[in-house]
Amino acid sequence: MSETVLVFLLALLTAVATGLGALPFLFTRKPTRRWLGLSNAAAAGLMLAASLGLAYEGAVRGPLGVLVGAGIGFVFIVLVRRLLSVEEHPAVFAGLGGLDARKGLLIVGIMTAHSFTEGVGLGVSFGSGTDLGLFITLAIAVHNIPEGLAISLVLVPRGVGAGRAAFWSVFSSLPQPLMAVPAFVFVEAFGPLLPYGLGFAAGAMTWMVFAELLPDARREAPDRLVAVVVALSVFGMLAFQILVR
Ligand SMILES: [Zn+2]
Repeated sequence: MSETVLVFLLALLTAVATGLGALPFLFTRKPTRRWLGLSNAAAAGLMLAASLGLAYEGAVRGPLGVLVGAGIGFVFIVLVRRLLSVEEHPAVFAGLGGLDARKGLLIVGIMTAHSFTEGVGLGVSFGSGTDLGLFITLAIAVHNIPEGLAISLVLVPRGVGAGRAAFWSVFSSLPQPLMAVPAFVFVEAFGPLLPYGLGFAAGAMTWMVFAELLPDARREAPDRLVAVVVALSVFGMLAFQILVR
């Protein structure tokens, strides 16, 4: 098997791992409003910690690139959001309608966009050595599981089934195998772009946390409880990332 095929298959495996995040929802009962609020709080904490990790990864390679990338990420996501909200005909996504469909589309869209950068990171790291590549593959695969959880935490309480949530979780990581191969083959060209991509993803995800997930959480659940859940999920995800490194 050629090394390029191996990179593709390993990156595909990281995408499949994202679907594991939906597993806990096979066992949950019908959601309440408060449960929806706390799910949003948990998703916010997971995403906030994930963006910190991405920004850190990028800052090691090029701090200025991360800042520029984050700025572009903010502008991009605000424009996308505006586009989604002026939509005249009712939005439909994963069997959801209206506002719920928009939220679902937004989180799946943002998580899919951020996977492009991770795919590039995967390919570039394989370009600098198989050992590093395997390590980064494992790190991304494991880190994808709570990201699938974050997506499912937004989708399932709004009425999406666990299987469908798993599908959209895996979907959000498909850019990883797609980007890993060109990044591996053209590692010289992709390497310098990585800090910008990491910054972009961190900027867009942070925006989603503060503009969407936290306000939603606070509408459905008491502030103190939201604060506790956000803090616990931030620390949980950070500890998890440190353990995986
Ligand atoms: Zn990620």
